[in-house]
Amino acid sequence: MKIYESADETIAALATGASPAGIAVIRLSGRNSLAIVRSMAALPLPMPPRQALFRQIHHPVTEAFLDEALILYFQAPHSFTGEDVVEIQCHGGLMHTSAMLDAVHAAGARAAGPGEFSRRAFLNGRMTLEKAEAVADVVAAETDASLRAARSQLSGALGRELDALSASLLDMRAEAEALLDFPEDLELLDVPLSDFSAKAAAAAEKCRALRATHRRGRALRDGVRVALAGSPNAGKSSLFNALLGESRALTDETPGTTRDSIEARIDLDGIPCTLVDTAGIRDEGAGRVERQGIERARGEIARASLTLWVVDPAQPVLPPQDMDGDVLTVGNKLDTGLPSDIELRVSALTGENLDQLRRAIVMRLTGGVASEAAGEVIVTNRRHAELLEEAAAALDRAVVSAANAPLEIFAYDVRDALEALDRIRGRGADDALLDAVFSRFCIGK
Ligand code: GDP
Repeated sequence: MKIYESADETIAALATGASPAGIAVIRLSGRNSLAIVRSMAALPLPMPPRQALFRQIHHPVTEAFLDEALILYFQAPHSFTGEDVVEIQCHGGLMHTSAMLDAVHAAGARAAGPGEFSRRAFLNGRMTLEKAEAVADVVAAETDASLRAARSQLSGALGRELDALSASLLDMRAEAEALLDFPEDLELLDVPLSDFSAKAAAAAEKCRALRATHRRGRALRDGVRVALAGSPNAGKSSLFNALLGESRALTDETPGTTRDSIEARIDLDGIPCTLVDTAGIRDEGAGRVERQGIERARGEIARASLTLWVVDPAQPVLPPQDMDGDVLTVGNKLDTGLPSDIELRVSALTGENLDQLRRAIVMRLTGGVASEAAGEVIVTNRRHAELLEEAAAALDRAVVSAANAPLEIFAYDVRDALEALDRIRGRGADDALLDAVFSRFCIGK
């Protein structure tokens, strides 16, 4: 694997959050870490690892006194990055931490880029890529459920699933290759060749089952947009408020009150959801309502993961056939007792069936994948989902090869599947991929 170009340099950054704070941690990583800190503080020779030493810190050039701080040394390879790491726990003032960092740079450390510590940890084999990605997700998580999904990945839940899958593929490949090496065994074979097909099919199914969790995983990680659309006075704003659980959007008996789109964030069964109340319009004549309602709301509808088309049973206007995207038709004003053919009926006024509506929305958004149980794996990352699909496709080919082609082709197909799974862990990752993954991190991570 190619080592990051500047891996020779020692990097430094503030590892803790916003100043001012009681304490700030400045972290250095690289082969000169200890020498750099030694130029700022009197340290014993040899420096004992993993022991907090209380020292006076001086500027490496001016020798001015800067602070009293705790210094911790993690000797390579037993550190977060796998390199020599030194942490300086100093006072956390805004000016002070920046002056401390300046001093560390003056002593020879370069400012770390976003995610550079984690990138080095990955390159030095201290963590797999999917774990590094989980770290970023833990930091970015907005709801309990998205945090749980990220934590489960961080704890290695996805890694364990992938290990088990890879182990079964390796067995399959070894069996096939043994038969290739000793083809005479083929005749003595206890297992019929169809067993290879069945095993590959089972593994493909397992990949697809994991892949299927990605709809929920993506919703958890990236959030969703749900737009409310429909004819004026259908009760869009009322439903928006009811789903919000508080009065945020204007509602009025005069049609056309809602002029601009209004957005609010809600937690929908753990999914971070932006609810959008689209602009209402005046009834400018029969037949044109529907068209205009769509025209005005079109941008929002196109952006939305799902559109709730709200219908008033007294004046039912159904969603136009050519509407873009996923649409869920909701019959409002159930409390009026008016009949309607619409399956999903609610009352924004009384709150009746709103739970049912929430469930239906989540169902549509996640493809029916239920809330995550403890320890259950949810694939939150698109890269992982795509590679799982690639593995499944290779295994589909293996199913066919086992039946028709020479066993050699079967072994190739299984190897392709294995490689796809390996790439999830980061094996063979190039700089472009690493840039994409680690640029999402903050500096100091
Ligand atoms: P919008 O133009 O689609 O945003 O509709 P509004 O939310 O402003 O509602 C239009 C009218 O319908 C208002 O007078 C609401 O009070 C009324 N309304 C909305 N939802 C319900 C409902 O579930 N039941 C009844 N009876 N009236 C409702």
